[in-house]
Amino acid sequence: CGVFGIYGHPEAANLTYLGLYALQHRGQESCGIVSSDGARLRAHKGMGLVADVFKQDSIFESLPGSNAIGHVRYSTAGGNDFKNCQPILVDYHRGSIAVAHNGNLVNAQEVRNDLERKGSIFSTVADTEVIMHLLARSECDSLTERVTMALNQVKGAYSLIFLTETRMLAVRDPNGFRPLVLGKLDGAYIVASETCALDLIEAQFIREIEPGEMILIDKTGLQSFRPFEQTQPSPCIFEHIYFARPDSTIFGQQVYQVRKDFGRQLAREHPVEADLVVPIPDSGVPAAIGYAEESGIPFQLGLIRNHYVGRTFIEPQQSIRHFGVKIKLNPVREIIEGKRVVVIDDSIVRGTTARKIIKMIRNAGAKEVHVRISCPPTSYPCFYGIDTPTRKELISSSHTVEEINRYITSDTLGYLSLEGMHAAAGAPIIDGRKGYCDACFSGSYPVRFPRLKDDSQLG
Ligand code: 5GP
Ligand code: SF4
Ligand code: MG
Repeated sequence: CGVFGIYGHPEAANLTYLGLYALQHRGQESCGIVSSDGARLRAHKGMGLVADVFKQDSIFESLPGSNAIGHVRYSTAGGNDFKNCQPILVDYHRGSIAVAHNGNLVNAQEVRNDLERKGSIFSTVADTEVIMHLLARSECDSLTERVTMALNQVKGAYSLIFLTETRMLAVRDPNGFRPLVLGKLDGAYIVASETCALDLIEAQFIREIEPGEMILIDKTGLQSFRPFEQTQPSPCIFEHIYFARPDSTIFGQQVYQVRKDFGRQLAREHPVEADLVVPIPDSGVPAAIGYAEESGIPFQLGLIRNHYVGRTFIEPQQSIRHFGVKIKLNPVREIIEGKRVVVIDDSIVRGTTARKIIKMIRNAGAKEVHVRISCPPTSYPCFYGIDTPTRKELISSSHTVEEINRYITSDTLGYLSLEGMHAAAGAPIIDGRKGYCDACFSGSYPVRFPRLKDDSQLG
């Protein structure tokens, strides 16, 4: 998911719309904006893309005020359903509060069962609602204390933006799984998932919100708190591999540069004699440029993407995904014919994309097809907000590289090594400490999930 918030700007809802537009790659399922005029919160939410949900100007007239938060959703917990659209807006005895969440709580079900036993009634199946219930039950006086108390009972990944009638509060979990950045525009504070959202509205990037940091913004300005027990930060390396936009800077590193360095490292680890380096667009492009630079093999756009089709992986139905590859990509025969081609992609999940694309490239006359993947085999599911499927569906969890090579029908297949990936990514620069989460590759999960009793629950 993607989150955005702005405090103290007369065009708050409009700017939130633009911010969400820049974060659209982080979720296409649904979106929403909640605004505050200092006295009341108002919401507009809907299923689908930002440009479709916020089509009419009249919607912005219904979102007055100088403070607003917004969300684009990519479902990990909870289904694809209007009820689960965010921001979630609730009224309770202290007033109104809205929240936009990026991440995934690993103990949401336990906390929810416990709350239901105590009489809470839930209206969504989303893990985020648990936070709102905990918040409403807290007896603490200040908002920061109530939020701290609620968050001390949940575990997992959360980059959150809360909005009340008069305040905005942003929090990043102590591991810092998901990115969250702070910016400024004409005296207004902005919080967003990625810097590309700041760029679009010409806001100035101030800094990242740090793992375990809470930021309160009200009319007196900004205050920073460290209310949680400190832990070793473990930002998600998959943000650099695939999820974040390459023009963003997250975890202290420029995403485009990191992707190119993955490609360079991949060329060192898995060299091959070939005529062309061809990316699977768009996600494979920066790594392919790095591979081409390092190997000296010419880079060519041998596959052309139709940009009016969404990210196929996120389409919820199997049938759409299978169909998706064909409507999305087409090879350039004149470039590929008779050539030995190195095809670069960022990741293999189920293997269906690679298999279909290789078939296409062979049909276009390629002499050899060598596949190089700019991350290690994805063998374990993610519990922290990326929708990798269960182990059963992850081809690498049950197949060797050689078996996958046969399945996708490539001549050779090479993945970036775990060590190579970390070396290329460098250290995320957070508080002078380092280390990324790499659990979907290594199986070593930085935050334990209480319900993992057997493998069938992995995912
Ligand atoms: P597959 O067909 O192997 O299941 O999908 C692999 C493709 O899905 C890659 O090209 C990758 O860029 C794309 N992809 C889209 N969304 C995701 C995601 O959330 N996780 C992963 N690992 N790959 C994704
Ligand atoms: Fe990111 Fe993978 Fe860790 Fe999930 S398991 S947070 S996708 S590195
Ligand atoms: Mg891709």
